[in-house]
Amino acid sequence: DINPLNICAVTAVPLPDARILPLTPGLDDALFEHDGQITKRDIRALTLAALAPRRHETLWDIGAGSGSIGIEWMLADPSLRAIAIEDNAARAERIARNAASFGVPDLRVITGRAPEALAGLDAPHAIFIGGGGSEPGVMETAIAALRPGGRLVANAVTLEMEQALLALHTRHGGDLVRLSIAHAEPLGTMTGWRPAMPITQWRWVK
Ligand code: SAH
Repeated sequence: DINPLNICAVTAVPLPDARILPLTPGLDDALFEHDGQITKRDIRALTLAALAPRRHETLWDIGAGSGSIGIEWMLADPSLRAIAIEDNAARAERIARNAASFGVPDLRVITGRAPEALAGLDAPHAIFIGGGGSEPGVMETAIAALRPGGRLVANAVTLEMEQALLALHTRHGGDLVRLSIAHAEPLGTMTGWRPAMPITQWRWVK
């Protein structure tokens, strides 16, 4: 039989429709099944670097969308565990499909709304907040649950979430980072930069 990545287990030769995965985070968005709600590859690579996985650690991926952050966390090392929390049932099912297709079927998927859905989960060494962070109690619950020395990373696209992150940065410290990515695209017969919406990222160590 073959493994989920379509690599022959015996000879390590890619089968004809193989997806050959690089070892670093920032995998092509097209490798994930998604509905547009996905942290794009460049931002994802920087996010994983900030989450800084170390062996045997557990991540909470809150507002997990397609599951891309939790999946890349687990791909970094077989000892890593991740819990994806996603409110939208169709997306939660998609996360499980993505996890299986990337060969990390142990990714735990919680279908539910933060902060209620966070109750009783194993204490995390790292937390990513990709959705729900501007809702009451979500950031507070995450901060309280994080183990001492753990990393928290939150990405904001909206001004409301950015405002929440500014307040958290003022209160707790850490780093507030602005990430802007642009891709060259055809512009008439020439080429122009097409900027993606800028991301504000708060990185904090407890
Ligand atoms: N990082 C994800 C994209 C996140 S999009 C990826 O790379 O795929 C934000 C997600 O947060 C959406 O899927 C939305 O349904 C979810 N969400 C928003 N508020 C939430 C809440 N309170 N609890 C759980 N999920 C939430």
